[in-house]
Amino acid sequence: MSLGYAEKLSYREDLGGQLGAPELFDSPKEVEAKAEQLAELVRKARRIVVFTGAGISTACGIPDFRGPGGIWTLQRAGEPLPRPKVSFTHAKPSLTHQVLVGLVAAGKLDYLVSQNVDGLHLRSGIPRDRLAELHGNCFAERCHACGTEYVRDFEVETVGFKETGRRCSQPGCGSALRDGILDWEDALPEDELALSDSHSREADLAICLGTSLQITPACNLPLKATRVYKDGTKQQPGQLAIINLQKTQHDNKAVKSGGLVCHARCDDVMRLLARKLRLEVPRFVRRDAVVIGHQQLTLDGMVCDGLAADDAAAQPGGSSANHAVGSMAAVVAADDTAAPSSCKDEDGECNGAAVTFLLFVQSSHGPTCPLPMVQAVHIVFKDPQLEPATLAAPPFAVRRSAPGGTCVHALITLHLHTAADEDKRAVQLSYLVQLQAGLEVGRREERHDFVTQEAIFDVEEAAAAAVAKAEEQQDQQQQQQQQQQQQQEQQQEQQHQHQQQLKKQRVK
Ligand SMILES: [Zn+2]
Repeated sequence: MSLGYAEKLSYREDLGGQLGAPELFDSPKEVEAKAEQLAELVRKARRIVVFTGAGISTACGIPDFRGPGGIWTLQRAGEPLPRPKVSFTHAKPSLTHQVLVGLVAAGKLDYLVSQNVDGLHLRSGIPRDRLAELHGNCFAERCHACGTEYVRDFEVETVGFKETGRRCSQPGCGSALRDGILDWEDALPEDELALSDSHSREADLAICLGTSLQITPACNLPLKATRVYKDGTKQQPGQLAIINLQKTQHDNKAVKSGGLVCHARCDDVMRLLARKLRLEVPRFVRRDAVVIGHQQLTLDGMVCDGLAADDAAAQPGGSSANHAVGSMAAVVAADDTAAPSSCKDEDGECNGAAVTFLLFVQSSHGPTCPLPMVQAVHIVFKDPQLEPATLAAPPFAVRRSAPGGTCVHALITLHLHTAADEDKRAVQLSYLVQLQAGLEVGRREERHDFVTQEAIFDVEEAAAAAVAKAEEQQDQQQQQQQQQQQQQEQQQEQQHQHQQQLKKQRVK
């Protein structure tokens, strides 16, 4: 599996900051005490701003950058890069992501500033207007003419604000879309940086999760919560809490502010925090969508409604209907060599002859977009005369013929590619190919939504399991200590006996 994002960035010798600093682990007792302190800070705070880095996504199977096994650390050492356990596309949010969603729902979390590009905060359910993605989002593309942002279910192909090849579908716009991923030299998005700044100034608690706080200007934003401002923004300095496995340059300031520094995994601290606050951690449910449709063709494969393939392909972004015509018309055009013949009688009515139709499954983002969650499509028809099909790669489209004026019932099974740690899922959808409308209705399509991933975070159960594990470890340690003590005693006893023997020998 490729590292996607990291490999798309331009090569850079100087990666700035420190790489591969050792990871530190507070004892379970310390973590418990610090989680209690954090819970108290959260209870007291009026406005909280949270900063997140790659450390919160390592639990999802995504490598970090500056940890001992991080991407930049290994790259500098000339070692093979870490293998992600999951692609960005199929990654599920961690407990930490979901606790943050719970804090927003509880009215506790005012604003979330992330340096992560994996898109997991949006996927987890953080509202877009509560989130700054300072380094971009691999799943988003933006129209620079009208400012519309499109969040996709597939990874956008480019980095460094390049044109992605798709166009804005806002009425009257149609401008080229660009990715929003910062390459090394790119400036941070001004609007989101300004919002991060104002929310940080107003916050009375800043919590940093899984970030080594090394990249400016993002790393200095949390400090703004700890200051007072003459303009009256804030009279009392706020607190800073840092949860990270490595030391950061702001650790002293966090302690001085009355906050804390905790060296532990973010999920462990957030699990304890959720328990102490009696916070409901929302389950993660991911829904994806496909467009299923059909296009009626004459027996020779010409498009019936008069829309020529070339015209359709030239349509700009527009609605998904426009998209779909273009792509599928192209598929049809490539497929057919026979001479055109008419499917209408002399009065222009459907003449009842067999009609060929194309049945297709496409991305809801447009026909040329990938369908990363769909691994294969299996199509069966109620009419046994119509041959079933299994399609293992896009374009997911089949051509069949049926008598004009009938209604064909297709059962479509989508075999889903979800995540490596899950059983394979399949979704069955039903679709009617309506041919009785005659040839005036050349195409029709429907959007189908379905659940592709789910995760439940039971903090009580997980905490109980963590306690049991800690106790087990403690028991093992005690047993080892006892064994060592016994061995020492035995050795002492042996030495004593040996000395006694020596004494006896001397007496003799
Ligand atoms: Zn636009």
